Amino acid sequence: MKTCQVSVVVPCFNEDEVIEAFHRALISVLETTRRTFEICYVDDGSSDRTRARIGSLATADRRVRYTSFSRNFGKEAAMLAGLRMARGDAVVLMDADLQHPPELVPRMLELRQRGYDQVVARRDRTGESALRSLLSTAYYRAMGHCMDVPVVDGEGDFRLLSRTAVDAVLALPETNRFSKGIFSWIGFDTVAFTYRNMQRAAGCSKWGGRRLFNYGIDGLISFNSHPLRLAIHIGLALALAALGYAVWIIVGVVLHGVVVPGYTTLLAAVVALGGIQLATLGVIGEYVGRIYSESKRRPHYLVRETSESPHVPPVDIPAGVRSGPSAPGGGQASSGHTGASALGTSRRRTLRQFVEFGLIGIINTAVYLAVYASLNLWISYLIAHVIGYTVGVVGSFLLNSRITCRTKPTWHAFVRYPLSSIVNLVLAGILLYLGVSRLGMDKNIAAVAAGILATPFSFLLARRAIDSGASFARQGGVPAGGSVGRATP
Ligand code: UDP
Ligand code: MG
Repeated sequence: MKTCQVSVVVPCFNEDEVIEAFHRALISVLETTRRTFEICYVDDGSSDRTRARIGSLATADRRVRYTSFSRNFGKEAAMLAGLRMARGDAVVLMDADLQHPPELVPRMLELRQRGYDQVVARRDRTGESALRSLLSTAYYRAMGHCMDVPVVDGEGDFRLLSRTAVDAVLALPETNRFSKGIFSWIGFDTVAFTYRNMQRAAGCSKWGGRRLFNYGIDGLISFNSHPLRLAIHIGLALALAALGYAVWIIVGVVLHGVVVPGYTTLLAAVVALGGIQLATLGVIGEYVGRIYSESKRRPHYLVRETSESPHVPPVDIPAGVRSGPSAPGGGQASSGHTGASALGTSRRRTLRQFVEFGLIGIINTAVYLAVYASLNLWISYLIAHVIGYTVGVVGSFLLNSRITCRTKPTWHAFVRYPLSSIVNLVLAGILLYLGVSRLGMDKNIAAVAAGILATPFSFLLARRAIDSGASFARQGGVPAGGSVGRATP
């Protein structure tokens, strides 16, 4: 097996827009280091053209290798695959979106030469929203109390590991992997330096709120049994409090006789205890679930192809030919199974988006009513209606962009967005008319039915408006909203 001095491991999931810019930037930096190197890309089941792109990079340059997964297994699995692939004496882990600046690699190598086994690049919080910073700081504080190993705010996966450290990481067999904890757990001589936080060069983050929340839970319970112990402490404290309260009541009865029973206190106590019991059961369930998945001993990921043994020649695919991850080379599906799974994934995504769209609709209605009812007290009800409606539309646009479509809101999309409300209004009106006049339905029931029937159409239109706005911005049209500074490669 041929070794080299440096391996760079890059997990990639749907990084079509940025991967080539990243590759150019990385190669130009690595070439200045005068060391032998390889770049190990891991395609984590991307559904865009990432796999084809890294395949072409590997064909053009022997220093590039890749592994492609059969589906999305998550960044942890992708990093593990990359570490297993890497043959270098030192291995650098970095993201593909240029948030981990390649220019820092020489500095890491320099520190490695001084004998450090782990060189960690720690990002500051430049450009991050105040809320996110606050939540992250609170989370890391909580982690500090709960975890058996220290995890430092801002220290992520961007780091260099010596061969010894890589072998130590690979020797840990757990299925539920939490790298931040693993890197801390293995120890060895570690040094960290801080760099300025960068925004993504292109594409969008794969870590939505729910994914981030679940990752946070993983972190909290991957490395210790503190939450279980906390549950025991809370249970004991409550039992003691209940005992004290019982004594208090008994003393009261002895001194004053039976008084009117405290219905509210009782109810509050029952609800509070019920909540604590459920939360505790949830914590226990998490641990049991983990034991279950560890006991199954499933592999962390399944490989579809690698640069060493590609099942399909890695050819580039013209934009627009392929519709999903299952159509390598000229848009032909490689197997019925992966084609079906891509279809399943896209259906699940649409279903998820539809449910989120519906929930946002409910929130939107509540916001409208709240604004309308409060302004009604001060100004004319018609003006209150217009303001309430506008606030509702703007709010639902922002929420649907961020949550439903997971993209940045753009002015282009914003201008088109109200169209979906107009179509909804007209379509629901027609359906209402047909229901009442033709089918003889009750007016109220007909209104509800018409609203429900029109929702899928307005969902499709709203999604189209937001998505087309996002791609318009990507093609260099109206700049994306939010005005975050873009890192240039
Ligand atoms: N990534 C991955 N699999 C996933 C999600 C992300 O391999 O399921 C990769 C992604 O392509 C990127 C890196 O992990 O190279 C960090 O992801 P992202 O930029 O979305 O995370 P953030 O920087 O927002 O925390
Ligand atoms: Mg990123």
